[in-house]
Amino acid sequence: MSTVAPVRVAVLGSTGSIGVSTLDVLARHPDRYAVAALTAHTNVERLREQCVRFRPEFAVVSGAVAAARLEQELRQAGIATRVLAGEDALCEVASHERTQIVMAGIVGAAGLRSSLAAARAGKRILLANKEALVMSGPLFMEAVREGGATLLPVDSEHNAIFQCLPSDSRAGVRSAGVSRVLLTASGGPFLRTPRDALRAVTADQACAHPRWVMGRKISVDSATLMNKGLELIEACLLFNLPPSQVEVVVHPQSIVHSLVEYCDGSMLAQLGNPDMRVPIAHALGWPQRIASGVESLDIVRAGRLDFETPDLEKFPCLALARRAAEAGGTAPAVLNAANEIAVGAFLNGQLAFLEIPIIIDQVLSQHRVHSVTSLQDVMAADGWARMQALARLGLAGPTAGVCA
Ligand code: NDP
Repeated sequence: MSTVAPVRVAVLGSTGSIGVSTLDVLARHPDRYAVAALTAHTNVERLREQCVRFRPEFAVVSGAVAAARLEQELRQAGIATRVLAGEDALCEVASHERTQIVMAGIVGAAGLRSSLAAARAGKRILLANKEALVMSGPLFMEAVREGGATLLPVDSEHNAIFQCLPSDSRAGVRSAGVSRVLLTASGGPFLRTPRDALRAVTADQACAHPRWVMGRKISVDSATLMNKGLELIEACLLFNLPPSQVEVVVHPQSIVHSLVEYCDGSMLAQLGNPDMRVPIAHALGWPQRIASGVESLDIVRAGRLDFETPDLEKFPCLALARRAAEAGGTAPAVLNAANEIAVGAFLNGQLAFLEIPIIIDQVLSQHRVHSVTSLQDVMAADGWARMQALARLGLAGPTAGVCA
């Protein structure tokens, strides 16, 4: 039996797809890890089950009434978890002195402040919540540097790239001889669907991903290829690369999770079954390796590995994201916010699938880009873009805006 105290892990967004996979890996290593905090938005029932099983010191939900009720229920069951409410509480558990690892698994901009809090407090951050990094870009990376945090990518593509880089290259991959990185994209559920047929696709069809089981927002992002666009921006930030050195290739089998090309012509790739427990276990255990529970890849059964160029006319979101990456400053925050509104409207049946990129393009085109020097800059750009997108959807009145 180990005599070393278990490492304390806060799982933000524990009720989501990433959160559940993280808890699955943690449960395989009870001597090594202890669950410090679990958090949910509205799925209090699943959070209660997780608290009963993992007995965290803290749990967080969005509403105060739900928090009080959950704490009372847990107490009646003999569980001493303190249940807190709201975004400040998310920041508190992410930066708590006894928290050592933070899984940033909240979806969308809602995860920004807690991820930043973890960065400023110098935690090891396992970053799944790509939107937080995309929105705040240089601000987030500066918080990581100044806080002395360790930022480990959990997105399978970025985790693959991280694994293919030399261990001493994190200060700058260009000096390590990297000429470009290739992000692989499954192509989503509509890879072979003719463009005209995309007019009538439903949210459930868009969420039926052929390879990965994920939350609904990222599933729609995968169907539009905006997910790959957000990942392009994420790769530029994480690995300090210009957009011109990040390429996207469609790889329908989702076995090769990304590739790194070096100046001598060598190309390194990371392969594995498409299961998020692989990158989660990698980031949890790094620099050691720990078991993930994922079955071994049968490379013979996998057989062929195909690669194709993405169709930017059918999937304009990828080109929009590249445009935002090249513009920099507030443009990625605007792209992300307009996308969150458009995807939310699509999931609610208020917008057609093919109109998602149209809304984002209109908002991005209206935006006058400026640099990001504070969280206020990010939130102002985010708020402006949300209002613009809502106005275009007929869901809110137009605003003069602070960033246009
Ligand atoms: P899910 O929708 O499955 O889960 C989202 C989690 O965030 C849930 O715990 C949810 O709580 C919580 N949440 C939602 N809104 C709020 C809010 N306003 N405040 C606090 N918590 C909130 O998403 P995924 O797990 O699929 O994705 C999470 C992140 O990981 C995303 O950024 C995604 O892009 C990224 N990612 C996901 C991958 C995957 O395979 N799923 C792969 C790579 C990256 P509740 O359940 O109560 O609603």
